[in-house]
Amino acid sequence: MKEELLSQLAKIVGQDYVSNRPEELYLYSRDPGAQKPRRVDYVVMPKTVAEVQKIVMLANQEKIAITPMGAGLTLSALTVPLKGGIVLDMKRMDRIIEVNEASRYAVIEAGVTQAALRAYLEKNYPHLQHSTPESPPTATIVGNILIHGHGHLTPRYGVNSQMVNGMEVVLPTGEVCKLGSCSVSPQWFSRDPLPDLMGLFLGWLGTTGIVTKLSIQLFPKPSFRDLLIFSSDSVELIPEIISELSQINLLENCFIITQEKPKWAQHIFYIVVISGESEEEFETKKELHNRIFQKHQDKVAPVNEEPAITPLRERFLGVPPFAATAADFRKGGGFEYTGAILPIEVIPQAWQSGIEIAHKHELLYQLGIQLLPNGHSVMLAYSYPFNRADEEDFERARKALDDTNKLTLELGGVVWKPELTAQKLILEKMDANTRGLMDRIKKTLDPNGILNPGNWEVS
Ligand SMILES: Cc1cc2nc3c(=O)[nH]c(=O)nc-3n(C[C@H](O)[C@H](O)[C@H](O)COP(=O)(O)OP(=O)(O)OC[C@H]3O[C@@H](n4cnc5c(N)ncnc54)[C@H](O)[C@@H]3O)c2cc1C
Repeated sequence: MKEELLSQLAKIVGQDYVSNRPEELYLYSRDPGAQKPRRVDYVVMPKTVAEVQKIVMLANQEKIAITPMGAGLTLSALTVPLKGGIVLDMKRMDRIIEVNEASRYAVIEAGVTQAALRAYLEKNYPHLQHSTPESPPTATIVGNILIHGHGHLTPRYGVNSQMVNGMEVVLPTGEVCKLGSCSVSPQWFSRDPLPDLMGLFLGWLGTTGIVTKLSIQLFPKPSFRDLLIFSSDSVELIPEIISELSQINLLENCFIITQEKPKWAQHIFYIVVISGESEEEFETKKELHNRIFQKHQDKVAPVNEEPAITPLRERFLGVPPFAATAADFRKGGGFEYTGAILPIEVIPQAWQSGIEIAHKHELLYQLGIQLLPNGHSVMLAYSYPFNRADEEDFERARKALDDTNKLTLELGGVVWKPELTAQKLILEKMDANTRGLMDRIKKTLDPNGILNPGNWEVS
């Protein structure tokens, strides 16, 4: 049976792009995060939409699971199948189909990576950019958007999933469907004013359809860009500063971070990214932001000196910022973070409890806030490094992640990109009618339950 299915898959994508060899399945049965490996039966790499359709139809016929995968870098094992079956690796669908300069969008295939679009724009449209996450450059744009990811332009222009103008999706039953303006026009320029069907696929963790193309908004790239850095020891002040920053609403990006090592980093650092097209605009923005922090000079100081200034500038000035410095405190190559989407007023408690949770599990704390659009909420990332070769260390990180996710929900927040255990915690807390609606949507779209089953398992 296994070999027969393999040869049917090979007929669709070609011998070279399907495998059930253990050494290849090994790579797909785990991700870089702290979750345990799981079984994969086949990996398939389609090149065209028609191939995706045929694979989906075959999976329906054989009642076998399909897990869509971009780069598999969420760290929460969302592309490691919960019920075996096929991993559908989208990397070969890597065309940048169109860039519309006037309406500022790019139409891309699902396998296009952050680095590929960035390099393409730098070469051909140097005045345009997309909102780039801190994730490794091989992460896909579609994978990031489908989990409601955040990029370097998020505080200013929106969560990355808000930057979608349209999609092409292969439904779990095999039909191809277009969403947004591209469903009535050759132009992929707008999500409005039609009924917003994008929500049937955003945040669903690959359980409702396979996105094959997507239109993402692009933004002007400013000529001037720099960081203002401040430090403080007052956790209580964070909500007030966020409110004042959003009052003027002129920043490009803002991080609020602390970490246990090295020792100088044990303060609260505000990293404010300022950009502007003219020098005058840039200098005015700098001045206005400096004023906010000067107002609190009894509790906040500018950071201009070593040992902090060089490492912070090196980490945060680039696009994307260099997140990997957070990854390897234990010198064992393991790191996972859980993201808490939080209302502003609970930040002080979420911050302090995060430090306590890390210490309870004998881990080093590392906390980082990214401001979400207009300062209405934040993503607070709690990072836990572990030594991959040390099973006890691994287990400590998993327990710390669980405790953190419980904390997030207790504080009235929502866990972002949740792994299986966190999905269950969310569903337990969710309004029963909302759960029921999710169940109906999933069953209607995917009657055989073939897409990434086990995730968002409502019934
Ligand atoms: C060091 C580090 C820093 C990070 N920083 C950030 C950050 O700043 N901002 C941020 O948002 N994230 C960040 N991340 C998290 C993550 O890496 C990114 O969100 C990444 O862009 C996810 O893309 P991916 O291609 O790896 O998605 P995947 O993990 O492959 O997929 C994500 C989800 O989407 C589904 N999926 C993927 N492709 C498709 C498709 N074509 N159709 C249907 N479903 C699909 C998968 O099944 C899965 O559920 C970071 C990760 C690391 C390791």
